[in-house]
Amino acid sequence: MDAEQLREYGHKMVDFIADYYKTIENFPVLSQVEPGYLRNLLPDSAPNQPDSFQHVLDGEVAQLILEFIRLHIQAKILPGVTHWQSPNYFAYYPSNSSVAGFVGEMLSAGLNIVGFSWIASPAATELEMIVLDWLAKMLKLPEDFLSAGQGGGVIQGTASEAVLVVLLAARDKVLRRVGKDALEKLVVYASDQTHSSLQKACQIAGIHPENCRLLKATSSTNYALSPEFLSETISQDLTIGLIPFFLCATVGTTSSTAVDPLLSLGKIAKSNGMWFHVDAAYAGSACVCPEFRHYMDGVEVADSFNMNAHKWFLTNFDCSALWVKDRSALVQALSTNPEFLKNKVWFSSVLMEILILPKSQKFLVTVLGSLSAGEMICTEDRNGLMDSENLKKSSSINPLMDIKLISSHDLDTASQANMVVDYKDWQVPLGRRFRSLKLWMVLRLYGLENLQCYIRNHIKLAKHFENLIAQDPRFEVVTPRIFSLVCFRLLPVRNNESHGNKLNHQLLDAVNSTGSAFISHTVLSGKYILRFAVGAPLTEEKHVNAAWKVLQDKATSLLAESL
Ligand code: PLP
Repeated sequence: MDAEQLREYGHKMVDFIADYYKTIENFPVLSQVEPGYLRNLLPDSAPNQPDSFQHVLDGEVAQLILEFIRLHIQAKILPGVTHWQSPNYFAYYPSNSSVAGFVGEMLSAGLNIVGFSWIASPAATELEMIVLDWLAKMLKLPEDFLSAGQGGGVIQGTASEAVLVVLLAARDKVLRRVGKDALEKLVVYASDQTHSSLQKACQIAGIHPENCRLLKATSSTNYALSPEFLSETISQDLTIGLIPFFLCATVGTTSSTAVDPLLSLGKIAKSNGMWFHVDAAYAGSACVCPEFRHYMDGVEVADSFNMNAHKWFLTNFDCSALWVKDRSALVQALSTNPEFLKNKVWFSSVLMEILILPKSQKFLVTVLGSLSAGEMICTEDRNGLMDSENLKKSSSINPLMDIKLISSHDLDTASQANMVVDYKDWQVPLGRRFRSLKLWMVLRLYGLENLQCYIRNHIKLAKHFENLIAQDPRFEVVTPRIFSLVCFRLLPVRNNESHGNKLNHQLLDAVNSTGSAFISHTVLSGKYILRFAVGAPLTEEKHVNAAWKVLQDKATSLLAESL
């Protein structure tokens, strides 16, 4: 890495990205290229020599990067980009970027650490723990999810990875109880509105395909999972010898933002000894606002909770925050401890003083640095007298604190001794990026109040769109709007539902092919529904109005054609 070259490339690239944001509305929001378009534009194999190597030799680094941007990025890549940051982007769910998120990501790329264990970059692990505690407090998560106790937070890449790791933790926990041979009998429950990532997790975890119960949620519950239906299904499964072990509820489903009743569902899960996971990938962000927090009521009984800061929380992709109440369940399922990754024990004489033990006694005492500054471990037992109670009495340790005594020969690594968090044991891959930097910068540079305003503004714009629909009798809002997603459709002519589905499909294609707005769709109770999700950081009322105008115009043409 040549520092001066980086400076020149970096400045030019930042200029290019800033200009991109300035002119983003000039691009068709949804890429209009055909599949395979890039094959025709790029050579079959990588070059042996850089195209413009002469420029570098001549010291014209800036020229090289400018040419690269013009010849390659602008000409070949941008046409194939769907512009998620465009203010006219209303599809799927948003994927926010922000100045703070961007520069945090930049710093992470600059440091380029691989923080699988504490020692691999202590700042990466410790900042992640702190920032997730901050976010947990903003969401008013129960204290059990904070790192001071038995729980804690971790940044996963995606909600899919989050549900996978907690499913693996839950699976192994129940198998430890009932025996490994019972895998075929384990059953997972969720509504059929749950994100498909749960099904994928079940496939990976070896859950029998028939034992992933996706219970039908209907319009009668606004597509939320019915606790009665769940109870009945669990009872039936128990009578045939199956083992219910995992329930996934959603706050803000992908299709329509349905909110499952967490408390009632969670109680059922708990009374059956099941792990209860809450997926709030999209809507979790809204719950930092007091007026939306009640949608998370019942999270107290959950074992794990997940929200994607990279969706609607100004944190550049990827940053999916997962909290668990019992971190040891994750570690037991996912840890491996090869010799080459072991940490050196961290010994601190200062800590011995905290314990008021004379240094001469050669007690090896250290903080369980992982999760609680108060938790201590003592590795040696003084003539059998130093049990944890004696240690408390002979020191200034708060008697309520959990003290673990472990023998010194077990303490050959700090990781093994749980003195530090090694996040490799909370996730599938070994390597991990310094993702907490961008979340930290977002929280510090915007603060809770600005983040709340940001969410509220999008919800206001979604309400505005809902009102526009209500004024046009050709359209209907299909499900109650809760957050910033509006589910709507063009009403079928002469109540012909199958024609209605075709009509709305055509409307979607017509709008998206203009390139001036991008919306997506879902199917609810057999009806093809259009989804309008407000959440791009640059979206203003004028963009919502413009998208509505395109929708109305295209609807007029389609209805005229279908007469
Ligand atoms: N859960 C919900 C409710 C979602 O809406 C989504 C994606 O939109 C996911 C999970 C999966 O998200 P990810 O791409 O982070 O795996």
